[in-house]
Amino acid sequence: PLELWHIGGPVIHGFGRGSKLLGIPTANLSTEGYSDLLSEHPSGAVYFGWAGLSARGIYKMVMSIGWNPYFDDKEKTIEPWLLHKFDEDFYGEELRLVIVGYIRPEANFPSLESLIAKIHEDRDIAERALDLPLYAKHRDDQYLKMP
Ligand code: ADP
Ligand code: MG
Repeated sequence: PLELWHIGGPVIHGFGRGSKLLGIPTANLSTEGYSDLLSEHPSGAVYFGWAGLSARGIYKMVMSIGWNPYFDDKEKTIEPWLLHKFDEDFYGEELRLVIVGYIRPEANFPSLESLIAKIHEDRDIAERALDLPLYAKHRDDQYLKMP
């Protein structure tokens, strides 16, 4: 389904397990200030869209919003995986997201391997969908253009 919403802020520290445990780094955003917006959208879900990093560029992203049932988190997180290979971390940098599509509800998994496999499927869906003109055009969203 088509979505169109915008969130942003500095990249914060999460639990540090994305890269280390899953091999999937996620640039966490603060949920502060987004409680209204998050309550309008199913949280506990996987979305895709475009991510802008002020000093670097604009990238495809696939994002989880929710409680990470596999890890039984008590706090909701917003965590986009930018589909690009970076040579360094970018904690503290301003990150802007334009969310354009929904992939699936959050789910629990019987193993870490099955969780990782599902996230890789999500990435493949996002990669391909974002090439479709319907979604590709939002790469030009003004919100992603930072000074
Ligand atoms: P944390 O729990 O602190 O978010 P992660 O293991 O999820 O730690 O790693 C995320 C961090 O890795 C990001 O904040 C960012 O600085 C860095 N990073 C490097 N490459 C990427 C990428 N492709 N997508 C998202 N974050 C990345
Ligand atoms: Mg993370």
